[in-house]
Amino acid sequence: MEQIDILIIGAGVVGLAVAKELSAKFEDVVVVEKENSFGRHTSSRNSEVIHSGIYYPQGSLKAKLCVNGAIDLYQFVKQYSIPYKNCGKLIIAEDDEELQVLKELKLNGERNGVNELEIIDEEECKALESQIIAKYALKVPSTGIVDSHKLMRKIEIESEKLGAFIVYDMEVISINYQNGKYIVTFVNGEKYQASSVINCAGLYSDKIAEMVGIDIEREDLKLHFCKGEYYKSSKIKNIDHLVYPVPDPKGIFLGIHLTINLQGEVRFGPNAYYVDTVNYEMNEKYKPEFLKAINNYIKVNDKDIHLDDSGIRAKLQKEDGNFRDFYIKEESEKGFRNFINCIGIESPGLTSCFAIAKEVSKQVKN
Ligand SMILES: Cc1cc2nc3c(=O)[nH]c(=O)nc-3n(C[C@H](O)[C@H](O)[C@H](O)COP(=O)(O)OP(=O)(O)OC[C@H]3O[C@@H](n4cnc5c(N)ncnc54)[C@H](O)[C@@H]3O)c2cc1C
Repeated sequence: MEQIDILIIGAGVVGLAVAKELSAKFEDVVVVEKENSFGRHTSSRNSEVIHSGIYYPQGSLKAKLCVNGAIDLYQFVKQYSIPYKNCGKLIIAEDDEELQVLKELKLNGERNGVNELEIIDEEECKALESQIIAKYALKVPSTGIVDSHKLMRKIEIESEKLGAFIVYDMEVISINYQNGKYIVTFVNGEKYQASSVINCAGLYSDKIAEMVGIDIEREDLKLHFCKGEYYKSSKIKNIDHLVYPVPDPKGIFLGIHLTINLQGEVRFGPNAYYVDTVNYEMNEKYKPEFLKAINNYIKVNDKDIHLDDSGIRAKLQKEDGNFRDFYIKEESEKGFRNFINCIGIESPGLTSCFAIAKEVSKQVKN
């Protein structure tokens, strides 16, 4: 049986960032991933936005790790010439009632440490984005976009340079804690013995926690899948900023927004609806909902938008539930020393990846 020090489960952006952070400090770091490459799930099915941190409650991990993570992420992409653009974003208000929401967001963002937030009027908004219809907008200059695939590839390379091993086609199927060590069994019958396990399994992170013996129902750590679909448009061009409506009041998602990619192509989405299984297939069922939402801020018709892609959020928040923070915790209290769970790493998980990695590193016990 392979004996290792630290085993990281999952090679999404979080598992890779954790591998990079820990392999700089520890000798023997191995990442296992069930797919045949990195980032096959949520980390390559998202908006690729570097968020600023304005939405999340003050003092939450989401707020702290997003603000710090964005700084680390910008630094990393600059250092290694990963394609990115600090394009900024506009959160738009249609009327005076929504203006109040912008004011609250601005205040919340400032409390979270987000700089240079500014509320602008219709004329200033038109000067920035002539095609966008808005009475007011909150201008968020620190928001950006990044090529998530190239980002993950570079983190993988840097982790390997630091000594991490990344093994693909290795699906964890059981974990037993015996005499202070974790015996991890894979679907191919292999077994590893690890002193520490870091659970970065995204949509399946609650199942991994369950494997070691954590009662996820009792601990309120069961994940709920919330799907989001995207449409793209080849008709709309020459948009410079990301454009968001005011967020959903239930806090489930940020509203169907407009993003641009690094080629300047326009995408709309994601919407949000809870599902029972991980299935990325799409049909046009939600197209009317998209058209209605988009036409509040830019004129499009049925023929201007086409199905693009979908992703699934790993949410701790239930459909009718309240805000839930990232869950990043070393589980000695539950009897599992150096078993660190990262559960509910939904948005802004991409932005926060390096800050999450630092948080995990702080929690590893010697
Ligand atoms: C629609 C959508 C839009 C989003 N937009 C943004 C955005 O614009 N900005 C932002 O900051 N965040 C965004 N996010 C959130 C962000 O994408 C996630 O927080 C982040 O990608 C989570 O990364 P992860 O590594 O935790 O999960 P994943 O990328 O899902 O990685 C988990 C990995 O674990 C592996 N795994 C699972 N089970 C096992 C097992 N038993 N054995 C071995 N391996 C296993 C999986 O195969 C997978 O590769 C968005 C999310 C969604 C769904």
